Amino acid sequence: FPIKRDNGTIEVIEGYRVQHSQHKSPCKGGIRFSEAVNQDEVMALAALMTYKCAIVNVPFGGAKGGIKINPKNYSVYELEKITRRYTSELVKKNFIGPGIDVPAPDYGTGEREMSWIVDTYQSLKPGEIDGAGCVTGKPISLGGVRGRKEATGLGVFYGVREVCNMQSVMDKLGLPVGIEGKKVVVQGIGNVGYHSAKFFRENGAIVIAIAEHDGAVYNAGGLNEEELIQFRNKTGSIINFPGATTLTNTLDALELECDILIPAALENVIDGNNAPRIKAKIIGEAANGPCTPEADEIFIQRGILCVPDMYLNAGGVTVSYFEWLKNLSHVRYGRLEKRFSENLNTRILVQIEELSGKKVVEKERQHIMHGAEEIDLVHSGLEETMISATREIMHIWHSNPDIPDMRTAAYVSAINKVASTYVELGIFP
Ligand code: GLU
Repeated sequence: FPIKRDNGTIEVIEGYRVQHSQHKSPCKGGIRFSEAVNQDEVMALAALMTYKCAIVNVPFGGAKGGIKINPKNYSVYELEKITRRYTSELVKKNFIGPGIDVPAPDYGTGEREMSWIVDTYQSLKPGEIDGAGCVTGKPISLGGVRGRKEATGLGVFYGVREVCNMQSVMDKLGLPVGIEGKKVVVQGIGNVGYHSAKFFRENGAIVIAIAEHDGAVYNAGGLNEEELIQFRNKTGSIINFPGATTLTNTLDALELECDILIPAALENVIDGNNAPRIKAKIIGEAANGPCTPEADEIFIQRGILCVPDMYLNAGGVTVSYFEWLKNLSHVRYGRLEKRFSENLNTRILVQIEELSGKKVVEKERQHIMHGAEEIDLVHSGLEETMISATREIMHIWHSNPDIPDMRTAAYVSAINKVASTYVELGIFP
């Protein structure tokens, strides 16, 4: 579709939406703004969404969208025009709707773009009662859910933490159990990388390096992602961050001595070339497709554990599912039961104190009395999802000697689930 640029020239914008599987409705997947977008890429990412949703039991088919632009080259007004026009093209072709296909943020997009999408959709479909569920990752004021923004990064943390809590897996890697003290390198300080770094750091890991497209920063004592973002906002880049060493070749950061490497940017950053030089024992694929098949082969030979994207970064779509449910039910999570739980918990506490003659300490008292709010329920739903998916995949891997790695086990889990839907539908025998 054409748009008129701020300088008056006309530019034709190339955009895609791919639906990989409709074994469940709606289809689901993000929309990315990137110069690397092409049909093949969007198709591959849509397939990944089908498997991802299946593994974490999110009842959607896979889809993906992409607009081939570098958002940095456009004004906010131009980006709004592009996003709104793309949305109306989707509406025209019946490629969007709470029961059809539900986009979400991805590389280069966020709450702002999702709010343009929902607003355009609702203006074209007046009176559609569930219209807010046409897209997820919206701001709270437009029907978003608390906890969506950090969901992918938090899911990455929960998944890797679960792996690190498995004694037999850690024994094999020669690492102690737990997250505490583990050295972590994060590539990318976008939404996913930032939140991954934050949750690892807050839980006792040491984030020794963070890489961006124009350079990386390293500090053996640990980096604070929040201070780094503040610095970047001021100077336009993370390089020369005070107190850290700058690596001008950003890819060098991937090869640093560490326990956990979190690629959280784009696909194909670890390939047959640099995989032999990777020193991490665990690779947590926060991005979609950061390791090529050649890299996978090398990791199998070298005994490096690659925790695959297909489920590790499923936190985003899991919480998108919670957001979509919220939109369909038209009620905030916790609204009905929060006060009830608090009243009940208070009565139980009073009884315990009366019967025992002792007082519960104030901090514990607050904790026990607290009734669940939306954020508590979303985080606990996400935690449960990531823990059970990790255990399920590990179980499949370890109970089948023909399965060479965790990625294959994740595929087995996903394809079994998608295929059983086809069997239930009578499409497969
Ligand atoms: N873009 C994210 C992904 O690749 C989220 C998709 C969604 O929430 O639908 O998983």
